Amino acid sequence: MAPGASGVFRTMCPMNCHPTLCGMKVEVEDGRLVGVKGDPDNPDSRGFLCIRGRASREIIDNPERLLHPLVRAGRGDTSWRETTWDEALDLIARRMRAAGPRAVGTWSGHGLGANNYGTRISSHLLRRFANLYGCQWWTGTMICWGLGAYGLGLTGALETSTKEDMSAHSAFIILWGANLASQPNTARHIVAARKRGARVITIDIRETEASSQSDETFVIRPGTDAALALAMMHVIIGEHLYDVDFVARHTEGFDELAQHVKAHSPAWAAPITGIAAERIVELARRYATTPPAMIVVGGSSMYKGANGWQGGRAIGCLPALIGSLGVAGGGFGPRHGASTHGQTLNHSLLANDRRPPGDDIPNQMSRITEAMLERRLRVMLLFGTNMVSSFADTEQVTAGLARQDLVVSYDLFFNDTARRHADVVLPATSWLEELGCKSTNTHLYLMPKILDAPGETKPVTFVLRELARRLGITDFWPWETDAGPVDAILDHPSTGHATVADLVAEGGMRALNISHVAYPDRKFDTPSGKIDLYSARAASLGFPALPVHDDLPASTFPLTLRYGRTLTHFHGFYDHGRALPTLAKADPEPELWIAPADAEARGIADGAAIRIHNERGDMTARALVTSKIPAGTVWMRDGWGGMNRLSSGTAVMPDAAVDVFGFSGGQAAFDAKVEVSARSSLDYS
Ligand code: SF4
Repeated sequence: MAPGASGVFRTMCPMNCHPTLCGMKVEVEDGRLVGVKGDPDNPDSRGFLCIRGRASREIIDNPERLLHPLVRAGRGDTSWRETTWDEALDLIARRMRAAGPRAVGTWSGHGLGANNYGTRISSHLLRRFANLYGCQWWTGTMICWGLGAYGLGLTGALETSTKEDMSAHSAFIILWGANLASQPNTARHIVAARKRGARVITIDIRETEASSQSDETFVIRPGTDAALALAMMHVIIGEHLYDVDFVARHTEGFDELAQHVKAHSPAWAAPITGIAAERIVELARRYATTPPAMIVVGGSSMYKGANGWQGGRAIGCLPALIGSLGVAGGGFGPRHGASTHGQTLNHSLLANDRRPPGDDIPNQMSRITEAMLERRLRVMLLFGTNMVSSFADTEQVTAGLARQDLVVSYDLFFNDTARRHADVVLPATSWLEELGCKSTNTHLYLMPKILDAPGETKPVTFVLRELARRLGITDFWPWETDAGPVDAILDHPSTGHATVADLVAEGGMRALNISHVAYPDRKFDTPSGKIDLYSARAASLGFPALPVHDDLPASTFPLTLRYGRTLTHFHGFYDHGRALPTLAKADPEPELWIAPADAEARGIADGAAIRIHNERGDMTARALVTSKIPAGTVWMRDGWGGMNRLSSGTAVMPDAAVDVFGFSGGQAAFDAKVEVSARSSLDYS
């Protein structure tokens, strides 16, 4: 756009509520942002823009915005001085050279995907840089949806059907740990399905906003999803409700599974899950006899636990038993991070084949923390992430970052990690100030550069190109313009070989060449192409071949802390939302859901100041006493600073197993058993 131009421009919200995402119209006058609103012509969001999307307007012209490169006066000092990009990049390149490539780590968060989620343009460029230089790069899936998808992958059911398929065809929908705050645009399709007569069930550890869209809610104990699924299989197989033909043609190991689940009756599962045996029986019967039945599994929160992958593994078997995979309205519905059948992109720019030999630190959260503590990592380049907020076991991460020769934070605003650990802070452009392109499960959306970049803010392409030049990586950037890598990534039949120029000509959006129904060919994601009810691959990786439930690790702390999403935050974005006045006002402080019985036993009143603590650390919050959560479980929205001082950073699976599916299952356990006590005042320091 020409400087000083005016008009209304089409883009997308800068947050990443994949797989749905929201279209945005941006009004500009004389080169200045006037307002943002939902895009009624966006086929995914149809004009919807939630409070977070509307609040994104406050990123622009925000007085807290980072506008110049900054260098800390000295370690332990809280003062900063402005510097030039040249001085900052020279310093970073010097420290990188001194450490050596393999001692340099690059870690990016959702912030790096603000205008390219679903296409991963920035992440792919960072990975290309890491491959050509030989430094560390890790997949961000280990902090998010990777562990749940890992369990589904062992079973062989990674593809998802679309929300449009759900609203048109599903007769029975289970929202299993799926919080609609994570994918609000799915809600419209659930409502449409219900209008057609579909029955909707929510399974969660608390009554969520999805409960209000549901006919029935099953409140389950945290980490017991696999037990519930095993008991449902017990009923479906024991009562001969399974699809004999589908099982015979498309699954492996039915006999072993049938034998295995005999011991997993609803009576066995009831005390584990907290759900009465007769309700489990009824749920299983209705799921098996109301075709087509779809399960929408949660993207991340339900897998935060030492047994996290087991839920996905066991739930993955259910649609195979009832023969709903590859059926319109059946199988699995939209899931964060998942792809539809046919949805992929061109990954050749990654240059994986050009990575120099050396020791790679695995895609395993715990190993990254260890490597920082042991100084096998000496320089950390952080892009769009608040690492001390998002990584498990914050105190260990903090200690690891303190041992680095150099920590660099590239972001829009200061965050906890930058304040406490960065030596250099680099100011990032926002989603309106650089070229991008997002993808949902069904569409591509161009995100053009609409505003001039303020101050000295720069896109990540500038940072990587300049570092590559200083480090002698001569062919990091073989393109003429910023459209070059976008075109390279989109060059795939799935997009119709779309280019930026095509998308401009087409009004900024294009439908993907995908199937709305997952697995139309019944070729599943296992070595045999069948659904692995019994998984020899799992056994070869050191896991049980059949789906299992393991109890969470024992603890002397009585309450199980779980996390999730709300409509008023997006993880730790924008300094935990504090930088955007609308979000800061809507969600002013950490609030812990606690059951009336648990609160009364501790002398805690609704709204009281509380201390949440365990063997790892503590945090301050306000109590929300509510009967929407059962005794024994407490819940807080994720992304609050200090919350992960409570969570376990222990590895869940062997290093050799994490990369089997091309994304990482190397999430730390994140378990947190806690105690809660009243405190005299709210002191968040
Ligand atoms: S739901 Fe997510 S993508 Fe949509 S407007 Fe809200 S924050 Fe943005």
